[in-house]
Amino acid sequence: MSADGFAVPVSESKSKPHGDNRYDAIVIGAGVAGLYQLYRLRSLGLRVRILEAGSGVGGTWYWNRYPGARFDSQAYIYQYWFSETMYKEWNASERFPAQPETERWLNYVTDRCDLRKDIEFGAKVTRAAFNNSTQRWDIDTASGQRYDARYFVTCCGMLSAPLEEAFPGQMSFNGPIFHTARWPRTPVDFTGKRVGIVGTGATGIQVIQTIAGQVGQLKVFLRTPQYIIPMQNPKFSDTDREAYKALFPYLKERLPNSFSGFDFDFRYGNFADLTPERKKELLEMFWNEGTLVLWLASFPDMFTSEAVNEEISEFVRQKMRERLKDPELCRKLIPTTYGFGTHRVPLESGYLEAYHRPNVEIVEVANNPIASVVPEGIRLADGTVHEVDILILATGFDAGSGSLTRIDIRGKDGQSLKEQWNQEIRTTLGLAVHGFPNLFTTAAPLAPSAALCNMTTCLQQQVDWISDCIDFMEKKGHRVIEATKAFEDYWVDHHDRIANATLVTKTDSWYMGSNVDGKPRRLLSYIGGVGRYRRECNEVAVNEYRGFTLG
Ligand code: NAP
Repeated sequence: MSADGFAVPVSESKSKPHGDNRYDAIVIGAGVAGLYQLYRLRSLGLRVRILEAGSGVGGTWYWNRYPGARFDSQAYIYQYWFSETMYKEWNASERFPAQPETERWLNYVTDRCDLRKDIEFGAKVTRAAFNNSTQRWDIDTASGQRYDARYFVTCCGMLSAPLEEAFPGQMSFNGPIFHTARWPRTPVDFTGKRVGIVGTGATGIQVIQTIAGQVGQLKVFLRTPQYIIPMQNPKFSDTDREAYKALFPYLKERLPNSFSGFDFDFRYGNFADLTPERKKELLEMFWNEGTLVLWLASFPDMFTSEAVNEEISEFVRQKMRERLKDPELCRKLIPTTYGFGTHRVPLESGYLEAYHRPNVEIVEVANNPIASVVPEGIRLADGTVHEVDILILATGFDAGSGSLTRIDIRGKDGQSLKEQWNQEIRTTLGLAVHGFPNLFTTAAPLAPSAALCNMTTCLQQQVDWISDCIDFMEKKGHRVIEATKAFEDYWVDHHDRIANATLVTKTDSWYMGSNVDGKPRRLLSYIGGVGRYRRECNEVAVNEYRGFTLG
């Protein structure tokens, strides 16, 4: 054990297994949440197994290895906070490291905490059913293995059900099709190739700015343009690293109590109350910072006032005009139909300039949509065929709910979570679902971790809540916990009231589920703030899980 009390818990169980696959807890997913969940539950002396579909750890950072993938949370924020020793051992190379470094970091955490031996790789969970007679979960994998566990914890991530089957005819395509979240481990050679890409969200933007200079020709099939913020990504020196490492105690305390899980927060009041000079000064300051601060922590009334939102949107549009110069590019690439920040704002590096290259072409598909994929490329509704050799789908995810509805999860009366969520997406605090005892969810709908948060901050808070709850149950001798219908009703209503007061619910995006045909419309992420959400969760816990029944 080190000075900060960091110890590696061993995988000893206090409950004796009755068979190889009988566990106290089964966790799905070996990403940021799953790894910490294993660590915490093992610390309680429980017998725990992670079932992970991939062949390595990392979750999002395992699957999303597309060209240009990197995060836009600062490296010293996107961290675990349970060990100061580990925090200080890891040396980030730059402010926003790319995917390979983040994947390496999660492998380092895995090995440093000796987690790998309790992870089953290549284990894709297909079905999980609460067994009323045993009051435990029966969990099946695609390879035919059955596991039996008292607690079933899903750490599947909110963006892990990729929309891969985007168009009819994909099977007929002559070349390779890559969804960005299923990118191959071996590098793709784009030299001299005609490449088509569908999607200009945060992912598509990173791909486009990265490969524009490598491909023969790039056709960007553009439906909805994006607001952007230019990323400032300085390399870290030893002095920089020493400086951020010294902030560990401050950040550990600060992040979970902020609005969005970052170290910045609203500090200047409402935009509408400022003088024109002060507005300009602050907008320029936020813009030049090159982080998500302009979006997530500038002015609260940007999310609620159409007039304020329009003023800030126009500021960003003007910044984009200055870089794009060409009026035709401005018309195509600058958003006008929705407001800045009403869905995810990506950080970019040279994305707009990529369109100045002679080998990059925009194909507008808002009014002439993609009809199908044909052997030669993409056919639009008017019959035009765009020939390409490689097709990249940066078409996003069935977010928040998709990773769970793609598993056949059955509650205490055999009810299907998928069928319920096809009607209405509901959870209790994003941590539980009425009718599904001993199921704990992370990154699920109706919590900040479903979108509006620096993920490590919110996932650790959820894992801590779940672990404390399980610890409480074990100590008190409870076998089953279930959210009541009344408390779930309260939470859904509370969530909706806050959400519906914002402009976010007026814009179509994956935040509202509108990117998936037939998905019920509701803001996936709790938007009341990370600190407020944490207080709500703590209230439940200190009141011995008020709103839940314990048996
Ligand atoms: P996304 O934001 O949902 O974007 C999907 C894109 O595909 C959109 O441009 C969408 O157009 C387009 N699209 C989908 N179907 C289409 C169709 N039939 N025809 C034409 N266009 C179509 O997905 P994403 O870019 O993968 O990003 C998802 C989230 O992942 C982000 O919002 C972010 O939270 C996270 N992410 C983070 C980072 C980072 O931290 N740096 C990087 C990448 C992703 P419409 O807008 O018109 O629907």
